[in-house]
Parts: sequence; C-alpha cells; structure tokens
Amino acid sequence: MTEKMLVRALKGGKNTKIVTLSGKKITKMPSSLDKLPGLKTLNLQNNRISKVCSEISTLTQLTVLNLGNNLLEEIPEEMKYLISLKKLHLFGNKICKFASGACDGLQNLILLNLNNNELAWIPQEISRLKNLKYLSINHNQLASIPKELCFLKNLFELHLNYNQLICIPEEIKFLKKLQKLLLVRNNIEVLPKGVCRLKNLRILDIAGNIIQTFPSGFQNLKLRECYCEGNPLFLKEPVTAVQQDDVWSLQEITSRFIMNELSEKNPFVMQAITWHPLVRNIMSQRRKCAICEKYFLTIWLECVEFVPPSKKWKISRNLQLVPLQILICSYTCFNQRGPNLFGIAQV
Ligand SMILES: [Zn+2]
Repeated sequence: MTEKMLVRALKGGKNTKIVTLSGKKITKMPSSLDKLPGLKTLNLQNNRISKVCSEISTLTQLTVLNLGNNLLEEIPEEMKYLISLKKLHLFGNKICKFASGACDGLQNLILLNLNNNELAWIPQEISRLKNLKYLSINHNQLASIPKELCFLKNLFELHLNYNQLICIPEEIKFLKKLQKLLLVRNNIEVLPKGVCRLKNLRILDIAGNIIQTFPSGFQNLKLRECYCEGNPLFLKEPVTAVQQDDVWSLQEITSRFIMNELSEKNPFVMQAITWHPLVRNIMSQRRKCAICEKYFLTIWLECVEFVPPSKKWKISRNLQLVPLQILICSYTCFNQRGPNLFGIAQV
C-alpha cells in the first residue's frame, strides 16, 4: 500500500527531489526509498509511523525530514547517516530518548524541532550538532538541561517552554549568538548570572516561573522584549525591619581575613595558601560585597536593588522596576546603602 503511494509520488522518476506522503495513515515507511538517492525533502507528517526503515540510511542528500505527528518513541540511530540533513521535524511523537549515536552524523543540522514529546532528559551528545541554530523542545518533561547544550555555539534560538526545569546552567553564557531564549512555564527559581553575558540576546520570555529577582548586570542586557508575567517578582514596597548585629562564625572571620589579604597580594598569605589546596578550593566560592567590594564566604545579607528597565525594552506590565539581587557583607555596609537598595524581610 505504502509502496504504491510512493510509486505514485514518484512521477518525476529517479530524479525526484521531494516526496510528500502526509496524512496517509502510513504505519510503515516505504522501503523503496533506497531507489531515490537524490531525494532532498521527505515529508511523512501526520501518519502512524513507529519506526524508521533501515533504507533511510541511503538518503545522504536529504536536507529536510519531517516525521512530525507520528508514533516514534526515540530519535532513531539511523539519523546519523543523514549527513546532509538541515531540518529535522520530530514534533508530536512519543519520543523519550535519543538512540545512541543518533547525533553523530548530523553535522549540518540547523533546525531541530522536538516539541510535544516525552523527553525527560537530553544526552551530552547534543553538543555534536555543531551547526544547530534553532532548537525547540517545548511541551516535554525536561527537569534539567545538560551543560553540553551550552556548547552549541551557533545557537540563535532556544525554546524550552512548558517543561519542568528548575534551573539553567551557568554555562548558558557560552551561547554567544543566542538571540531568543524562551523558558515559559517551568519551575525556575533563579536565573544564572551567565544570562547577563548573552550580548546578543534580544528576546527573553520567563513567564510563569518562580523568579523573585534578577542577577545583577541583567539591566545592561540589550533586550528588545522581556516577558515575566506570573513570577513572584519583588515589588518596591517599604517594610520596617529590626536591625540585627553581625555575628560571624570563626570560619567566616578567618576566611574573610585570608581572602582580603589575598586580594591585596599579601606575599606571606599568598605563599601559605599554595600549601593548602583545600582552603583554596573553599575560597573559590567567595563572593564580593556590593558596597565595600570586600570578599565574604558563607554569611551575607541578600538585598534587592530596583532599577528602571531600559526604555528600549518591550516589557510585561509587572516589570515597572527590575528587582536585582545584591549581596552585602554586613549590616555596617547595609547602613551605607543607596536609596534604591532594600533588605529582604525574613518571614
Ligand atoms: Zn561590605
């Protein structure tokens, strides 16, 4: 049946470049595809295909493959033979994994559409899709993304709406060409500081997450559109708080002393530290006070600074002022803060 349909579709003879067999209730891919080595576009959308046939591996000239709305359960290994493929549509299947090696030959892939599947994780091998520009994995079950995804340095657009992401790796900063980042309806609590390094980012949509503040530096992004409805963003409303005294642990006092001596290049401390790699490791977790610019380790005051968003940004209504997360080393510094900086009331 399918073979006959293919024969009919092949009116152009052996030089056929495009085959469209969409919405034909096909359950099995036509195996005579191997008679079409010059095929460029294969559209099998809206069928009932649960497995790709092995003959697909002969289609080394294929540039577009549409298997959207079928019954595939994995990204098939055979994809690795499609070395000319530029666009791969696999939306609306039941895909829950990548077969091993599936990414190996897709060096020319530009677009990958995996919307509406059942993926709960992405393998590190995704980083092999070196030319990928558009990656869309909306409506899946991703709880995390591997940092290797951030090594796709040609990526322009990343769509991860409607998943279960709780965080985004700091390595996102490596996506230097990223222009559009969509993270609607996830469970993200904190945007990594790395987002502030995305110099080409123009559209950010984080609506429907649980973000309260933005990393400092966020206000300098050259966004055109920024949407953040449905997040419990901090609002600028005055709260009176009880002033506390700074009580630091001995570890905090010692580490602050060492870190600040190191930053002033005290030769004695600098030499001593080379003998203590473990201490050096702990020190690498240090953070800097926004007021005095000295270092601290485990004790700080979390504050919010409100800054007006850039006039060039098209923003959602709940973002009159951008709440930035600011860390301060002590109440002494807190008392020297500017008028736009607020402590966060502990409830
Ligand atoms: Zn300070």
